[in-house]
Amino acid sequence: MKFDILTLFPDLVDRILSESVIGRARTAGIIEVNAHQIRDYACNKHNNVDDTPYGGGNGMVMAAPPIDRCFKAVLASLPANETRRTVYLSPKGTKFDQAAAKRLAGYDRLILLCGHYEGVDQRAIDRWADEEISIGDYVLTGGELPACILVDAVARLIDGVLASPECHEEESIASGLLEYPQYTRPPVYEGEEVPAILLSGDHAKIDAWRLERALEVTKERRPDLYEAYLAAHPPKPEKGKKGSKKAAADGREP
Ligand code: SAM
Repeated sequence: MKFDILTLFPDLVDRILSESVIGRARTAGIIEVNAHQIRDYACNKHNNVDDTPYGGGNGMVMAAPPIDRCFKAVLASLPANETRRTVYLSPKGTKFDQAAAKRLAGYDRLILLCGHYEGVDQRAIDRWADEEISIGDYVLTGGELPACILVDAVARLIDGVLASPECHEEESIASGLLEYPQYTRPPVYEGEEVPAILLSGDHAKIDAWRLERALEVTKERRPDLYEAYLAAHPPKPEKGKKGSKKAAADGREP
């Protein structure tokens, strides 16, 4: 999987995406991340890439011509036989979630445009963006951190990026539930003990305990997810007994 990020701050995205799991996946050649400096495609001798907004208002708007030239140069260098999606990171976009990450992981290449300042001339967005994605209902100074979040969430779904595919299938949201609490050594820390069941070696019981905790935390913090999970996992009727949804949920198989 390949990512091309068009930005005024390529070093910023490059540094963030050079660390830890994503950095290792890049080094191993499992994913490729190319950050492109939009300023290199400025059309004037001062390398200006932004200007004041028509109609008045605060701040500066990133101009269409350098973005246009940057897109054309990047696209001209790419192979023809690959699937691509172009995304403009924007607070006006569709809210990003795990389903969107999964969908975007199906492309061979994602091309991400990062705005900055007051945003991007609408003509560049209309010309190049297949879709606009927001990482949440708040406004950041630039699209670089949102782009890194998108790359991280998508890349970890690519085969070989995580140690085992179950890692992401079992996690919060991806599984349909928030995750059960996790513990590691020491077994007792400042008087607080790890739940005994986790040290029992009985994997069926551990799975059941984890599902119970996951249902509890999801019901408490994300009732929307809890209801969706119940709807997708209808309770198995107990022989000769009409159980409530809750009772069945608590007794469901992992
Ligand atoms: N004036 C714009 C508006 O009101 O919609 C906000 C511009 S914002 C200060 C600058 C850039 O940061 C945007 O062009 C976008 O690329 C990025 N950005 C800010 N918040 C974002 C968010 N929640 N999700 C994705 N990108 C965001």
